[in-house]
Amino acid sequence: MVAQQEILPYAYFENKIVPFSQANISIASQSVQYGLTCFGGIRGYHREGKNKVFRLHDHYLRLKEGIHCLGIEAPCLWEEFQGIVRELIECNAPKADFYIRPFFHAGSLALGPRFLGMPFHFSVYMMTLGSYFEHAKGLRLKTSSWRKFSDAALPTKSKAGGCYLNTALAKSEAMLDGYDDALMMDEQGSIVEATVANIFLSRRGKLLMPETGSSMLEGITRRTVIEILQEASIPIQAAKIDRSMVYAAEELFLTGTAVQLAFVHSVDGRVIAADQKPGPFCTLLTQKFDEILRGSHPFSSQWLTEYP
Ligand code: PMP
Repeated sequence: MVAQQEILPYAYFENKIVPFSQANISIASQSVQYGLTCFGGIRGYHREGKNKVFRLHDHYLRLKEGIHCLGIEAPCLWEEFQGIVRELIECNAPKADFYIRPFFHAGSLALGPRFLGMPFHFSVYMMTLGSYFEHAKGLRLKTSSWRKFSDAALPTKSKAGGCYLNTALAKSEAMLDGYDDALMMDEQGSIVEATVANIFLSRRGKLLMPETGSSMLEGITRRTVIEILQEASIPIQAAKIDRSMVYAAEELFLTGTAVQLAFVHSVDGRVIAADQKPGPFCTLLTQKFDEILRGSHPFSSQWLTEYP
């Protein structure tokens, strides 16, 4: 189950803030026809009347890296990006937790997909967003029959629109079979990530995660987890993860901007969280995330940008 999302009234489109209903692109554009976009996804929290955005600069840097990987010439300076986000938050004045979606899209109506010589446009819109999953009793996952594409096929470190065809196929298959989400394996059978989230698991009391060099997206929430663990002197190891390691895990959880932290009940019917409760690592990390949002963690001021 995916939570209700409501698009907020204003968007940034063609260099200005406009009502969302006026932020439209052509049905013939390369972005619509071939998925030539590159996007970001940023969380905002509404707490005590204030809006706080999580790791804005890191999201900006990943978006910049993402378009660089695609070879797109579409500069968007940090100062400009920051200003647009600020103005949009002011106009939309969210009253609940929210999500910011900045993206570049190819506006050309020419036939034949290509990045070279295509003008790319920058837009931003926002929506309210609570929990991505209704997961009180843990997520039920299915290893997908669709393989996660390798970096030899598509740039895995870029949130490029077309890459999400792979996600959509895997997610739909999992839903059709009655699961909440899919676990993606690469061509060699190593577990890479879920559809829009990274994975962590514990075995024999030790926390493991797939290596950065696997074809996963390097999640900013994943990095946040690593940095929280480092700060708390809790070891974590990057490893090649195969399916039986996941089946035999003592604890398995997902991390992502939309998903946040979500524990897994079972994979392919093999139960991991028999008590339907998050395990000790996920519980600890959830507490640390709460501390960060309350402003009482050493990383709070560094990671949160507050808007009046
Ligand atoms: N993997 C994929 C394929 C994703 O789309 C996302 C969501 N951006 C993630 C992992 C998690 O990344 P992040 O923590 O930066 O949201």
